[in-house]
Amino acid sequence: MTAKILDGNALAKSLRQELRQRVNERINKNLRVPGLAVILVGNDPASEIYVKGKRRDCEEIGYHSNFQHLSSNISQQDLEAHIATLNGDPRIDGILVQSPLPEHIDEGRIIDVIDPGKDVDGFHPFNVGRLVVRRPTIRSCTPKGIMSLLEFTGVNLRGLDATVIGASNHVGRPMGLELLLAGCTVTTAHKFTRDTASRVRSADLVVSAVGKPGLVPGDWIKPGAIVIDVGITRGEDGKLHGDVDFDAAVKRAAWITPVPGGVGPMTRVAMLQNTLAVAEGEFANTLP
Ligand code: NAD
Repeated sequence: MTAKILDGNALAKSLRQELRQRVNERINKNLRVPGLAVILVGNDPASEIYVKGKRRDCEEIGYHSNFQHLSSNISQQDLEAHIATLNGDPRIDGILVQSPLPEHIDEGRIIDVIDPGKDVDGFHPFNVGRLVVRRPTIRSCTPKGIMSLLEFTGVNLRGLDATVIGASNHVGRPMGLELLLAGCTVTTAHKFTRDTASRVRSADLVVSAVGKPGLVPGDWIKPGAIVIDVGITRGEDGKLHGDVDFDAAVKRAAWITPVPGGVGPMTRVAMLQNTLAVAEGEFANTLP
């Protein structure tokens, strides 16, 4: 068996075109275009590349954007003040603070002070909590993008055994919650899990979100499984690598994401979808 490739670049492109069309419809109705604010603190080279990509996306789709590049010496208080201003700015629907933040900044507190109604990363405890109680509002971008990829496969997820490897706040945990909501029986493996191999071997669906190339060898993959590789690590060869041994896994899986070009572009487009949904008032009656 050779797996079908889940092409995140192609799907994200068609979703961006859909968004562009919906922005045009808003313009034709004299409605304001959605607005996204992105705060970058310091000079982390990878973050600068991510933020550049978000700016390009905004230009392509026609969003209003407000990109702020702040000094790595900024105080917690001043950063929170920037966020407070954006919380009150009626042209801004979505606020992103690019991570990682400098060590002296309390990242959890930064997420807490973003208006949950503008938290288009879906990281705020309010939005995560809504997913926990099965009444989702703004959804975390990487799991949301992955759910779009899974929908694209047309596979009925209800009853599938799913193993998520990684339990971070931004990826692993909300991913498990999304799959539970979709009717999967979910196992979450993490750094203290004793036997990750057996939990992957029995899984119909595997999502690996760790950041360790080679963590998932091909022979762990159950024949016919869906394999979603979230991991991104730049190797000594200068290339990006996922967690899964792609060349071996592709011979056993039914569907598999490549790295790069799988989950990454879907994460980006999910954030743009969240921003439009906020502008259209989709969550207006659910917010505190
Ligand atoms: P993180 O470091 O916050 O979390 C990693 C998780 O992996 C932790 O829960 C840890 O317990 C678990 N872990 C560590 N070693 C393990 C092991 N040997 N076996 C099982 N679990 C283990 O990272 P994150 O922010 O969740 O990101 C994970 C990876 O996904 C990184 O490579 C990151 O770059 C990538 N990522 C990609 C996208 C995308 O859009 N493609 C988005 C976010 C993160």
